[in-house]
Amino acid sequence: MPDRAPSQPPPETQTKEKDALSEDTVYPVYIYERTCQDIFDYCLREAQRKPPHEALGVILGFRRQWQGTKYVRVTDWATGQVESSMTYARFTPEGILEYRLALHDRYGSNPHTPRVIGLWHSHPFGGNPQFSSTDLNTFFKTPFCAEGNVFFLIDPLSRFFKVYMLRRSNESDALQLERVEWCTYLPKVPVGTVPSDELEGSLEGGV
Ligand SMILES: [Zn+2]
Repeated sequence: MPDRAPSQPPPETQTKEKDALSEDTVYPVYIYERTCQDIFDYCLREAQRKPPHEALGVILGFRRQWQGTKYVRVTDWATGQVESSMTYARFTPEGILEYRLALHDRYGSNPHTPRVIGLWHSHPFGGNPQFSSTDLNTFFKTPFCAEGNVFFLIDPLSRFFKVYMLRRSNESDALQLERVEWCTYLPKVPVGTVPSDELEGSLEGGV
């Protein structure tokens, strides 16, 4: 896990209200802390198989804008059946159906359902992971090639968690995959209005 203090993403909607957070730098990517930990732990379990296996899943969240700065809030993840080895991971058709059904079960017709905004996968080698040409081909094709989509590359054995985003420097430029700054965030709970025992429950409840 990154050695960084959790921060808060900007508020969900544009507001004129004075908010201490708005004075902070806006990171390109905010990852809900438990989502970050769960993805990492999942990758670690797969890496500890004999032989180690790559792990793969989808990233769920929202593309947002705060005072002209685009950022992404990652709120959840999902996976399904994958064909995988030490150097390879791909969803099976059943796996795609499986994660879509899981999301439907989780969110139903909730209008605030997060969208698939990228992929995460692991390279379980215990080194500094780099994308393969196959990885890059996937990211630059439908359905993943879209501005603001994010991709995590994790090596759970060496504890690397790298975050990349498809961005363009100018409106006319082609999309480029850039490694970006990120941080985790905790659920925002109104302080002093919730009894501590209920607060614990709501934190457990998650997103
Ligand atoms: Zn890869």
